[in-house]
Amino acid sequence: MLHAYSSLMSRLLKRQVAIIMYHRIDMVANHPWSTTPTIPQDFDREIKYLHQRYRVISLDELTSALPDPDRPLAPKTAVVTIDDGYRDIYVNAYPILKKYGVPATVFPVTGHIGTGNLFWWDKVGYVIWKTKLKTLELGELGTHRLASVDDRQRLVNTVVARLKQLSVNNRDELIERLVTLSEVDIPLNIGEQLVLSWDEIREMNRNGVSFGAHTVSHPILTRLPLETARKEIVDSKQHLEEELDQEITTFCYPNGKPGDFNDDIVEILKSDGFRCAVTSSPAFVSPSTNLYELPRILGSSGFDSFKLRMCLDDS
Ligand SMILES: [Zn+2]
Repeated sequence: MLHAYSSLMSRLLKRQVAIIMYHRIDMVANHPWSTTPTIPQDFDREIKYLHQRYRVISLDELTSALPDPDRPLAPKTAVVTIDDGYRDIYVNAYPILKKYGVPATVFPVTGHIGTGNLFWWDKVGYVIWKTKLKTLELGELGTHRLASVDDRQRLVNTVVARLKQLSVNNRDELIERLVTLSEVDIPLNIGEQLVLSWDEIREMNRNGVSFGAHTVSHPILTRLPLETARKEIVDSKQHLEEELDQEITTFCYPNGKPGDFNDDIVEILKSDGFRCAVTSSPAFVSPSTNLYELPRILGSSGFDSFKLRMCLDDS
């Protein structure tokens, strides 16, 4: 009985906020070798659901409200974020966000905008999906048969997980070796098809979409010398500020798991004028949450699973 009462009280008092995290919004068939997308139909249902049942605010608004424990957060508040800067944000997500008048924050990897270069994990995905070889010999990563789609997907996951552990130089060296071994030519313009342009970013920014920094090249910051990490953070902020002519105050840690950021990284963010940072830890935000460790709820790989995750917050 006491337990039921305290559980009810904690639910009533918790005033939790959901920050939702998306990456790609597209049909799977469009670029099957890239990050698994949320399909536009599901994104529409989820944004409509949030619009009807939640107060959707910007990340900046949440950041201003959070540090004041005497100003409780409104219940059923949500924030929408989209990582990395895929072009399908402009093509598929932006019209849906506009339709419902829902604000969102996008975290583009600035070194890729307008360059035509694929994100490093997409390079890996592209060559493993496109290679005509039946077997790939990857040295210390072993020899892999590529008989089925599942084989290819498994190998992409293995290689990406392994490369995340390396320094940027070692990572890029191994990717170039993989590209050579796979005997696949990556078309020069494929990054342009897949990654946002500055014109698209500016247009969205004029119409309710905010932008935050997500580094220049998407390294795991704690695996870099501190000065290199600082440059990744400071340069991405400066580039966005120059292109958008406004102050950038929100940050998203690449990979975003515990261990992918630390006190030194947070100090850099604070001294560079960032007011908050989001992680990939799956949890709701409460008034006592550290502004530089804002957890996020994964957007869907299906509307029902999305609703289930959000309903955990229903009181
Ligand atoms: Zn990212």
